[in-house]
Amino acid sequence: MSENCIFCKIVKGDISSTKVHEDEDCVVFHDINPAAPVHLLVVPRKHFVSLEDVSAADAGWLGRMMVLIPRLAAENGCRPGPEGGFRLVANAGKDGGQEVPHLHFHILGGPRPWQARMATPAA
Ligand code: 5GP
Ligand code: ZN
Repeated sequence: MSENCIFCKIVKGDISSTKVHEDEDCVVFHDINPAAPVHLLVVPRKHFVSLEDVSAADAGWLGRMMVLIPRLAAENGCRPGPEGGFRLVANAGKDGGQEVPHLHFHILGGPRPWQARMATPAA
Protein backbone atom coordinates (compact mmCIF):
# COMPACT_ATOMS: atom_id res chain seq x y z
CA MET A 1 0.00 0.00 0.00
CA SER A 2 1.38 3.35 -1.02
CA GLU A 3 -0.20 6.40 0.58
CA ASN A 4 -2.26 8.58 -1.76
CA CYS A 5 -2.19 5.94 -4.50
CA ILE A 6 -5.62 5.77 -6.09
CA PHE A 7 -5.23 2.13 -7.20
CA CYS A 8 -4.01 1.02 -3.74
CA LYS A 9 -7.19 2.63 -2.38
CA ILE A 10 -9.33 0.77 -4.95
CA VAL A 11 -7.56 -2.53 -4.11
CA LYS A 12 -8.23 -1.92 -0.41
CA GLY A 13 -11.86 -0.94 -1.08
CA ASP A 14 -11.48 2.63 0.20
CA ILE A 15 -12.50 3.93 -3.25
CA SER A 16 -15.33 2.18 -5.05
CA SER A 17 -14.95 0.50 -8.44
CA THR A 18 -16.90 -1.96 -10.57
CA LYS A 19 -14.85 -5.08 -9.92
CA VAL A 20 -15.18 -8.06 -12.24
CA HIS A 21 -12.54 -10.27 -10.59
CA GLU A 22 -10.25 -10.47 -7.58
CA ASP A 23 -7.80 -13.04 -6.33
CA GLU A 24 -4.68 -13.17 -4.16
CA ASP A 25 -2.59 -11.47 -6.88
CA CYS A 26 -4.79 -8.81 -8.41
CA VAL A 27 -8.03 -6.87 -8.64
CA VAL A 28 -9.74 -6.27 -12.01
CA PHE A 29 -12.31 -3.50 -12.57
CA HIS A 30 -13.84 -1.35 -15.29
CA ASP A 31 -11.90 1.77 -16.34
CA ILE A 32 -13.79 4.89 -15.22
CA ASN A 33 -13.23 6.52 -18.62
CA PRO A 34 -13.49 3.66 -21.12
CA ALA A 35 -11.59 4.03 -24.37
CA ALA A 36 -13.21 0.96 -25.96
CA PRO A 37 -16.49 -0.97 -25.56
CA VAL A 38 -14.63 -3.29 -23.16
CA HIS A 39 -12.01 -1.56 -21.00
CA LEU A 40 -10.77 -3.35 -17.89
CA LEU A 41 -7.83 -2.57 -15.64
CA VAL A 42 -5.84 -5.46 -14.17
CA VAL A 43 -4.14 -4.16 -11.02
CA PRO A 44 -1.74 -6.16 -8.83
CA ARG A 45 -2.54 -5.92 -5.12
CA LYS A 46 1.06 -5.02 -4.35
CA HIS A 47 2.18 -1.49 -5.19
CA PHE A 48 4.69 -1.38 -8.05
CA VAL A 49 5.01 1.89 -9.95
CA SER A 50 5.36 0.20 -13.34
CA LEU A 51 6.88 -2.79 -15.14
CA GLU A 52 10.22 -1.02 -14.64
CA ASP A 53 10.02 -2.11 -10.99
CA VAL A 54 9.46 -5.85 -11.38
CA SER A 55 12.17 -8.50 -11.20
CA ALA A 56 12.53 -12.24 -11.73
CA ALA A 57 11.04 -12.74 -8.26
CA ASP A 58 7.73 -11.43 -9.65
CA ALA A 59 7.52 -13.93 -12.50
CA GLY A 60 4.96 -16.11 -10.68
CA TRP A 61 2.16 -13.61 -10.12
CA LEU A 62 2.90 -11.81 -13.39
CA GLY A 63 2.59 -15.10 -15.24
CA ARG A 64 -0.66 -15.95 -13.48
CA MET A 65 -2.06 -12.54 -14.45
CA MET A 66 -1.12 -13.10 -18.12
CA VAL A 67 -2.93 -16.45 -18.11
CA LEU A 68 -5.98 -14.84 -16.52
CA ILE A 69 -6.23 -11.97 -19.04
CA PRO A 70 -7.66 -13.81 -22.09
CA ARG A 71 -10.26 -15.47 -19.85
CA LEU A 72 -11.33 -12.13 -18.36
CA ALA A 73 -11.46 -10.56 -21.84
CA ALA A 74 -13.80 -13.29 -23.08
CA GLU A 75 -15.96 -13.25 -19.94
CA ASN A 76 -16.42 -9.49 -20.17
CA GLY A 77 -17.51 -9.07 -23.77
CA CYS A 78 -14.47 -9.34 -26.04
CA ARG A 79 -15.41 -11.42 -29.08
CA PRO A 80 -13.25 -14.43 -29.91
CA GLY A 81 -10.40 -13.99 -32.40
CA PRO A 82 -9.47 -13.62 -35.17
CA GLU A 83 -12.49 -11.36 -35.85
CA GLY A 84 -12.58 -10.26 -32.22
CA GLY A 85 -9.70 -10.44 -29.77
CA PHE A 86 -8.41 -7.69 -27.49
CA ARG A 87 -5.53 -5.32 -26.94
CA LEU A 88 -3.30 -5.43 -23.83
CA VAL A 89 -1.55 -2.18 -22.83
CA ALA A 90 0.85 -1.39 -20.00
CA ASN A 91 2.04 2.22 -19.94
CA ALA A 92 5.25 2.96 -18.03
CA GLY A 93 6.43 6.45 -17.15
CA LYS A 94 5.70 9.78 -18.80
CA ASP A 95 7.07 8.77 -22.18
CA GLY A 96 4.90 5.67 -21.96
CA GLY A 97 1.79 7.77 -21.30
CA GLN A 98 1.27 6.48 -17.74
CA GLU A 99 -1.11 8.58 -15.63
CA VAL A 100 -1.61 6.40 -12.54
CA PRO A 101 1.74 5.35 -11.01
CA HIS A 102 0.63 1.87 -9.87
CA LEU A 103 1.37 -0.94 -12.34
CA HIS A 104 -1.69 -1.96 -14.33
CA PHE A 105 -2.67 -3.62 -17.59
CA HIS A 106 -5.45 -2.28 -19.80
CA ILE A 107 -7.61 -4.91 -21.52
CA LEU A 108 -9.33 -3.21 -24.47
CA GLY A 109 -11.78 -4.87 -26.81
CA GLY A 110 -15.11 -4.85 -28.56
CA PRO A 111 -16.04 -3.75 -32.06
CA ARG A 112 -14.10 -0.75 -33.41
CA PRO A 113 -13.97 2.24 -33.76
CA TRP A 114 -12.58 3.03 -30.31
CA GLN A 115 -11.77 6.38 -28.78
CA ALA A 116 -8.67 7.90 -30.35
CA ARG A 117 -6.67 7.89 -27.07
CA MET A 118 -6.41 4.10 -27.17
CA ALA A 119 -7.13 3.40 -30.85
CA THR A 120 -3.50 4.04 -31.71
CA PRO A 121 -0.49 4.62 -29.46
CA ALA A 122 -0.04 8.33 -28.61
CA ALA A 123 2.43 10.17 -30.82
P1 5GP B 1 -2.62 4.98 -17.44
O1 5GP B 1 -2.63 6.21 -18.32
O2 5GP B 1 -1.95 5.26 -16.13
O3 5GP B 1 -2.08 3.77 -18.14
O4 5GP B 1 -4.13 4.64 -17.18
C1 5GP B 1 -4.84 5.00 -16.04
C2 5GP B 1 -6.29 4.63 -16.26
O5 5GP B 1 -6.94 4.65 -15.01
C3 5GP B 1 -7.04 5.61 -17.18
O6 5GP B 1 -7.56 4.89 -18.30
C4 5GP B 1 -8.14 6.17 -16.29
O7 5GP B 1 -9.37 6.35 -16.97
C5 5GP B 1 -8.25 5.14 -15.18
N1 5GP B 1 -8.65 5.67 -13.88
C6 5GP B 1 -8.13 6.75 -13.25
N2 5GP B 1 -8.73 6.93 -12.06
C7 5GP B 1 -9.64 5.94 -11.93
C8 5GP B 1 -10.58 5.60 -10.89
O8 5GP B 1 -10.69 6.23 -9.85
N3 5GP B 1 -11.36 4.51 -11.11
C9 5GP B 1 -11.27 3.76 -12.25
N4 5GP B 1 -12.09 2.73 -12.36
N5 5GP B 1 -10.40 4.05 -13.25
C10 5GP B 1 -9.59 5.13 -13.08
ZN1 ZN C 1 -0.59 1.77 -5.38
